[in-house]
Amino acid sequence: MAEFEALRHEVRAFVAEALPPPVREKVRLGLEVSKDEMIDWQRRLAARGWLAPHWPQAWQGADWSAAQRAVLQEELVLAHAPETGGISIEMIGPILIRYGTPAQQQHFLPRILNLEHWWCQGYSEPNAGSDLASLGTRAVRRTRPDGTEVYVVNGSKIWTSYAQYADWMFCLVRTDTEARAQQGISFLLIDMRSPGVSVRPLIGIHGWHLFNQVFLDDVEVPVDMRVGEENAGWSIAKSLLEHERLNLARVAENRRRLAKVRAIGAEVEEAGEPLLRRPWFARRLRELEVRLETLAATVLRFRRLERAGGALGPETGMLKLIGSRLIQDIENLAVDALGPDTLAYDRAAHFEPPATQADRSQYAPAASARRFVTRGYTIAGGSSEIQHELLAKQVLGL
Ligand SMILES: Cc1cc2nc3c(=O)[nH]c(=O)nc-3n(C[C@H](O)[C@H](O)[C@H](O)COP(=O)(O)OP(=O)(O)OC[C@H]3O[C@@H](n4cnc5c(N)ncnc54)[C@H](O)[C@@H]3O)c2cc1C
Repeated sequence: MAEFEALRHEVRAFVAEALPPPVREKVRLGLEVSKDEMIDWQRRLAARGWLAPHWPQAWQGADWSAAQRAVLQEELVLAHAPETGGISIEMIGPILIRYGTPAQQQHFLPRILNLEHWWCQGYSEPNAGSDLASLGTRAVRRTRPDGTEVYVVNGSKIWTSYAQYADWMFCLVRTDTEARAQQGISFLLIDMRSPGVSVRPLIGIHGWHLFNQVFLDDVEVPVDMRVGEENAGWSIAKSLLEHERLNLARVAENRRRLAKVRAIGAEVEEAGEPLLRRPWFARRLRELEVRLETLAATVLRFRRLERAGGALGPETGMLKLIGSRLIQDIENLAVDALGPDTLAYDRAAHFEPPATQADRSQYAPAASARRFVTRGYTIAGGSSEIQHELLAKQVLGL
């Protein structure tokens, strides 16, 4: 994409100046970036017009093409900038632009862009994951004494990423228990400060506080916080998942992690030479590079289709399937390359760069945690088994 060289230079120059070095260092080493650090970075991007440049101009976007956006993301990620607003910018924002009422759009979209609202996604439940349509969180309509119409919501959502930070949750609830499973679901926007909402942390094997269980006990949600018609939430949820799957190919993230593995290969020695020259390491690295370039080309093709107004179909499941496996294999190679140095669990290593140790790679303390975090990538957004099934049935017609 030679025509984007100018944009690449612009992004590199901007990141070099605007990204605080301690944050860059954390991302480079695979450490956890705090909410404040993420928000500070996203504000800097927003001020430059680069937080949601693919949104329409009517909503402060710049109508960017898929290719421009891919270049921006790639350069940001390669420069070790923190991830930006997947759930807000890529998921609920586009949904509100497409399905929201004018009042919802005017209230929420500017607040997404100015980082006033942090969103989380309330889809999965303890008894509804892959089989999401069986979800049981119940919303019953009631008229308050003052005449306002509300849904009273009861149930629980699980694996809710970063709900501990969230101001709002977009949530699937059952509004009709008689209809077929998919037809009785509505899409609600829930204020996390509403009485009856509580958030319990779930700490993963990697030691990070990513997941939560969210309990909803008699939570009143005004009816005008429903997106789309009552009982028509499933089609909105599905279109959101298609956007999510495109995003979950994680091309740029794969690229950055592969660059890290290359750096490890140059730094760590085996039998007196850098791993990059050892056949077992070089072969695995090359194979990962080829898989990444194939994925990147395919994602770009889908982004062009999306941009031209084409529907993103079930084929997008392929990108998520391939991108999530690739990232796991990259982290596996990092751990294999670093060896036993990755075994000791060091909680501080999630948050702060390790003190330099002459006999231990700087990548070693966080390597196992990173590997465990990526184990979830073949589950989140629809597990690999489910993607295989969808591709077999809906794409290949088997
Ligand atoms: C990192 C991460 C972040 C997440 N963030 C969120 C979030 O923010 N919000 C949210 O709502 N959810 C989130 N989730 C939850 C995620 O959407 C679910 O974990 C996922 O949909 C799978 O559901 P489950 O965990 O209930 O597994 P289950 O559906 O119980 O599946 C268990 C196993 O059975 C297999 N299986 C199930 N059904 C079939 C079938 N029909 N055929 C073949 N195999 C099958 C699955 O592949 C899996 O291996 C997140 C998950 C992860 C890992």
